[in-house]
This record gives sequence, C-alpha cells and structure tokens, in this order.
Amino acid sequence: MIFNVAQLLKATVGTSIEENFEEEGVQLDHDLKVLGPITGHVRMRRTNQCILADGWVELTVELSCTRCLRDFEHFMHVPFEERYYPTVDILTGLAAPEADDEDDVFYIDDHHHLDLTEAIRQNVLLAIPMVTLCKEECAGLCSRCGHDLNLGPCDCPPEVDERFSVLSSLLGNELSEAQNTQANHKQL
Ligand SMILES: [Zn+2]
Ligand SMILES: [Zn+2]
Repeated sequence: MIFNVAQLLKATVGTSIEENFEEEGVQLDHDLKVLGPITGHVRMRRTNQCILADGWVELTVELSCTRCLRDFEHFMHVPFEERYYPTVDILTGLAAPEADDEDDVFYIDDHHHLDLTEAIRQNVLLAIPMVTLCKEECAGLCSRCGHDLNLGPCDCPPEVDERFSVLSSLLGNELSEAQNTQANHKQL
C-alpha cells in the first residue's frame, strides 16, 4: 500500500490519480488477525500543500464474540480520508515546511513514497465496534456452567434471583392485607 507520488507532487493543484490495490499478509495490529488480502481503492489529489488521499479498503478480520467468546470472521468496508505532507520539496530537494496541524496528518517520505498502511490501520481499528457479536441473537454462555447456549440449553436449573423472590413474597403479603382491608370495609 505504498505509492510513488513524485509525479503527482510535480503536477498542478487539483490533479489526481486513482489506484486499486490488493495486498496479502498485512499485519495491521498485534492483536488483530487479518484473514486473506486487503483490497482497496485510493484517489490521491494534489492540493496546495499536501496530497489528499481518500478511498476505502475491504478486509476480513477475526474477532472474538463478546458473549460466547468464540472467534468469528467479520467482513469490513472501511472508508478513509487523510492528508499526506511531503517531507522534501520535490523541486528543490530541500526540507519541506512542516504541516500546520501536525496531529492529524501523515508524511510522504523523502523518496516520495506515500504509505497508506498506518492510515488504514488507524481507520480499521476505529471501525471495530466495542461489542462484537458472532451474530445479533448470540445466546452467550451459561453464567454458572459456561455451556455455550447457542448449542442448546444446559442442565442448570432455571435461575431464581434470591432478592427478587423475597421482594415478591413481601409484595404478596401486602396484596393480601389490602384485600383483607377491602373485605372488612365491605362488611361495615
Ligand atoms: Zn457469540
Ligand atoms: Zn449452565
């Protein structure tokens, strides 16, 4: 996902080039497993001070289910849009001026290579949800025996919440007292 943008840096503002790419065996992050290639499309456009790169990538990653803990394959379509500043002025060979807002930008190296890898890594990681489910209706694991409830019910007896049963018996008493009072009123 590296492009030589020497020609584009020499071109007039507004010039753009588009590229399709496909790359096998990319490791984006130490705890993110990418299954198969990353494919994508990028448009790189010359602006006054930088190159604006926008496009998308498609990839399949392995995630683990928040509920049942099983690993599952997850297809992603991730759009991106980033600015790449040259580090060397293409015409003079001198160091290029620093970007105004350095936080949010990437740099083209001094061989005029624009490398999308880090931008794609960041965008993919941001696109992974906090809660990842193998399927929307995943039944999860039994909280007592750990059985995967997607495979059917376990042998644990139905769960009774102690606090709830106390509460319901209290409510039951109140209810019968209320009924007694009502009955007494009728008698009067
Ligand atoms: Zn699951
Ligand atoms: Zn169980």
